[in-house]
Amino acid sequence: VFNFSAGPAALPEPVLREAAAEMLDWHGSGMSVMEMSHRGKEFMGILAETKALLVELLQIPSNYKVLFLQGGAIGQNAIIPMNLLRGRTSADYVHTGEWSKKSIEEAQKYCTVRVAATAEASQYTHVPKQSTWDIDPNAAYVHICANETIGGVEYHWTPDTGDIPLVADMSSNFLSKPVDVSRFGLIYGGAQKNIGPAGLTLVIVRDDLIGQALPITPSVFDYRVLADNDSMINTPPTYAIYIAGLVFKWIKAQGGLAAMAELNRRKAAVLYDYLDATGFYTSPIAKEDRSLMNVPFRLPDPKLDAEFLKGAEARGMVQLKGHRVVGGMRASIYNAVPVEAVQALVAYMKEFEAARG
Ligand code: PLP
Repeated sequence: VFNFSAGPAALPEPVLREAAAEMLDWHGSGMSVMEMSHRGKEFMGILAETKALLVELLQIPSNYKVLFLQGGAIGQNAIIPMNLLRGRTSADYVHTGEWSKKSIEEAQKYCTVRVAATAEASQYTHVPKQSTWDIDPNAAYVHICANETIGGVEYHWTPDTGDIPLVADMSSNFLSKPVDVSRFGLIYGGAQKNIGPAGLTLVIVRDDLIGQALPITPSVFDYRVLADNDSMINTPPTYAIYIAGLVFKWIKAQGGLAAMAELNRRKAAVLYDYLDATGFYTSPIAKEDRSLMNVPFRLPDPKLDAEFLKGAEARGMVQLKGHRVVGGMRASIYNAVPVEAVQALVAYMKEFEAARG
């Protein structure tokens, strides 16, 4: 099938095949990775290699820590203020849709949240231009959601927040393109879209921002403790880390993040070009802010949705139903979704339009 799920999402087929081949006996160890001690030399090797691959792919500078955690991106919504307030009492957030809203609501438990900019006026179909942002010079950090998975808006530029650390939720566009990590104080994301299985959360954080967590911070979520223990203060999600390592290797073999970006641009263009040309389907998102990962679109009448989805499924295209908050359809086209999937979707959309338009 062609899987357009928003997450957990399609993974590269060669990765799944390699994992299946190694399921019972990893590299002659006689064990599955799932059965290994997290402190044994086999798993320690996997962890080190996975981290090194991520550092290489994103060219992460040496003054950043790479942390592997649990608790998801939603967990980070609490863990970030706990760690990054650093004696300050407020943080700035940019509200671009459902996921940044969740981040704002959670952070309010820990600090004063100022909304530095909001896309409310367009019903969250654009990213507010930086010239409209009102950043508090005393903010502990400025938080953005780099790609709103539900709404389908993505930053195609990096905000400049001066000395105030920029924090980005990259759950749904992580590793989809090169990113200048040095422009961010912290990048985080759940793994279950472009990285691997659910259960693993990645955090990349600049050295100087850690070490001042609130006293109530659980040790397993204190970035300083995690960094000092190489993410091994407790049992990490070992199997998910192993799969993430295979995905990183696959991305490297494809030509790295520049190649991923090119592929993702080409893929998204197939769908957006058609959405621009048709008068049948509509895309609500401002053109310059359209997500290359999650493409929401609507049929002219919601009464057609069920029939559209049924036809798609009959043709092997699954998980196209839009999020209940915005309705319509959504095609998530992460790294592992091949261009053929998008071409097949557009061919079906044309067929449906011809029949119902
Ligand atoms: N942030 C974004 C942008 C997401 O797409 C998701 C979706 O799963 C989350 C946060 C929540 O992540 P998790 O379920 O890993 O907590």
